[in-house]
Amino acid sequence: MKYLLVLIVLIIAYNIWRKQRIDSGSATPPHRNPTNAPPRIPQEMVPCAHCGLMMPKTEALEQGGKHYCSVEHQRQGPA
Ligand SMILES: [Zn+2]
Repeated sequence: MKYLLVLIVLIIAYNIWRKQRIDSGSATPPHRNPTNAPPRIPQEMVPCAHCGLMMPKTEALEQGGKHYCSVEHQRQGPA
């Protein structure tokens, strides 16, 4: 029973020590991005009106409220 108490004290002490290390900034933050790249923003996906291919809206060609994956499909129009 005495050893259990010692163990609990050691666990609490270890947790306090760890917390202090994280708070002081000496430990590496767990969610640090090593490449410093901006986080990926979820993009709105739209289907090509001709072939149905899903693509990010920013990469789609828009014409008349419809989206196309390529100039050729834009020219051919909705299927
Ligand atoms: Zn297409």
